Amino acid sequence: TASLEVTGLDFAYPDGTPALRGVDLRIDPGERVALLGPNGAGKTTFVLQLNGILTPTAGTVAVGGLPVRKPNLQEIRRRVGIVFQDPDDQLFMPTVREDVAFGPANFGVTGAELTARVDAALAEVGMAGHADRSPLHLSGGQRRRVALATVLACDPEILVLDEPSSNLDPVARRELAETLLRLDRTLLMVTHDLPYALQLCPRSVVVDDGRVVADGPTRDLLADA
Ligand code: ADP
Ligand code: ADP
Repeated sequence: TASLEVTGLDFAYPDGTPALRGVDLRIDPGERVALLGPNGAGKTTFVLQLNGILTPTAGTVAVGGLPVRKPNLQEIRRRVGIVFQDPDDQLFMPTVREDVAFGPANFGVTGAELTARVDAALAEVGMAGHADRSPLHLSGGQRRRVALATVLACDPEILVLDEPSSNLDPVARRELAETLLRLDRTLLMVTHDLPYALQLCPRSVVVDDGRVVADGPTRDLLADA
């Protein structure tokens, strides 16, 4: 697993909207960190810098020492897996198995190894019995777990989750938390769900108006809130 190093990161959208201002952040291998802050704070914009979907206006982002830049993007996207808020953004194949195979197949994994990767990822999220179903016929919580499996199948060193608990019923929410706690990987989780942050992430970073305004143990930040 790799570290994430962000230094002096500024980003403005093409229309001039400043979304990130001088963000410095280091996440060590194996840490689990919640990214908190109000709507419009810059959380999604930050996540989109981590695998080069957006490019910094100034400053650098590096994963395990490798800068997030054009020539490195294929390797960066192998190292950083992002699970977006809406699982339907990540599920577009006729079956669960094909969706989960899509990423590793893209990275050149084939044959028995590909099958093994898919089976392992589905088992990790508790969806082993559903490989041949259509994602369209799953519940919202199951789709969320399959979307996570599509990213786990790529074996990323850093896992980034955007609002993983939104729209989940209490059972699905708890099952997802158990899955995430079992994973034992570097985790960055964008959330508005403070109990979830407290349960899953020893450390929290709070952003507001594009800046980091707090960074420390989650239980201390929540005690102050
Ligand atoms: P969230 O709070 O879940 O990050 P937002 O409401 O901030 O969601 O953004 C939802 C979508 O709208 C994102 O794709 C974002 O890029 C886009 N968006 C947000 N603000 C603007 C804006 N001022 N102009 C254009 N697109 C925007
Ligand atoms: P959050 O995820 O914390 O809700 P965002 O990263 O979506 O915040 O947005 C940060 C800022 O960037 C907000 O002011 C938002 O309106 C703006 N923004 C987001 N997407 C776009 C976009 N595509 N074009 C212009 N401004 C945007």
